[in-house]
Amino acid sequence: MSQAPVALGESHLAPASTLPSYLQADNLGPWGNYLQQVDRVIPHLGNLARWAETLKRPKRILIVDVPIHMDDGTIAHFEGYRVQHNVSRGPGKGGVRFHQDVTLSEVMALSAWMSVKNAAVNVPYGGAKGGIRVDPKKLSLGELERMTRRYTSEIGIIIGPNKDIPAPDVNTNEQVMAWMMDTYSMNTGSTSTGVVTGKPVDLGGSLGRREATGRGVFTVGTEAARHIGMAIKGARVAVQGFGNVGGTAARLFGDAGARTVAVQDHTGSIYQEAGVDVAALLAHVAQTGGVAGFAGAEKMENDAFWGVDCDILIPAALEQQITAENAGRIKARMVIEGANGPTTPQADDILADRNVLVVPDVIANAGGVTVSYFEWVQDFSSFFWDEDEINARLVKIMTNAFAGIWQVAQEKKVSLRTATFIVACTRILHTREMRGLYP
Ligand code: GLU
Repeated sequence: MSQAPVALGESHLAPASTLPSYLQADNLGPWGNYLQQVDRVIPHLGNLARWAETLKRPKRILIVDVPIHMDDGTIAHFEGYRVQHNVSRGPGKGGVRFHQDVTLSEVMALSAWMSVKNAAVNVPYGGAKGGIRVDPKKLSLGELERMTRRYTSEIGIIIGPNKDIPAPDVNTNEQVMAWMMDTYSMNTGSTSTGVVTGKPVDLGGSLGRREATGRGVFTVGTEAARHIGMAIKGARVAVQGFGNVGGTAARLFGDAGARTVAVQDHTGSIYQEAGVDVAALLAHVAQTGGVAGFAGAEKMENDAFWGVDCDILIPAALEQQITAENAGRIKARMVIEGANGPTTPQADDILADRNVLVVPDVIANAGGVTVSYFEWVQDFSSFFWDEDEINARLVKIMTNAFAGIWQVAQEKKVSLRTATFIVACTRILHTREMRGLYP
């Protein structure tokens, strides 16, 4: 019996129903939100749309078991991930998150947003992300180090200075990066500073890296405010998350004459009509672990935070905070996404209808990875730049990238998120097409 002829063209594409289950959108989680964002950009991609399926499938997913000796003599197992979403434009790049709610689909979404973010600011990277499902606050320092080292060793088969370069994210910091750099270097038998970024400055880290994400939020936010005629001086700011990103952004907006009237984090919400003393609040958070109990402000109900009277709202914590449930109450004229994925597509639509400008994560928080790129370049050349040079280059890259995105948004009459996806996905898929399919 002769075989049926092989069908050509579109019919060859695997229908969505045959996607592996972990790739299917449940429309609830961050990966589902990301897929909806991709669907909104496809009509704007022209001929490159034939490659768009690439964006919906991470290139490589690694799930690792991370067993460690606990201080009490027991053995604990943690589940860790490293996802390389796309490496068409260069090695994978993106942070590592330690959090009790980390899931594979969350890390997939975060890795995809890194692909888009890195292309949006045109740094020569693909997108990747890692994480361990763990509450690191429950670990001793020794347990944290053993877990970090074992995780690094397990993902060591796919990371490297030219393959995939991790960095800090939620609950990881310079010390964690130092352990990761050391573990990778021990395993490869050579000091390899360029395998991670966000390291301590004395270990090949970059000046300005710690503040870079917050500085980028401020830079892009200021540009966006200029376009809509909003003065920063006197603006009322509300910030969710007062860690490295939210805290730095609040400080820089404060230096420019804005006042932070409301702050929320995992410990509670606070309000201060005159504007909080940001330096005092940062000191309180460093000492107590959160904003709750800060003497310089009143306590506020968590839910009331979203309806607070403000001009600028900066979500700088976790995903899916601005939803169809609270988007209608937001009073800000502008939302600047310091966090990754804080706004759901449904909330995006509600905010657009209400004329609230959303400056999306994939450009607003790209300052961190931009200075990560500077760190990586400095590590390769073993020649280190001063902080003024780093900050000036950061501002230039962010300002230019934002100007291009703003222009696309105006021309195509789309949101800044879709405009950023148009710019970024065009770059990603163009390299994809030029490289071609192997074999
Ligand atoms: N974790 C940060 C982000 O989400 C930084 C990533 C990096 O520097 O590689 O953008």
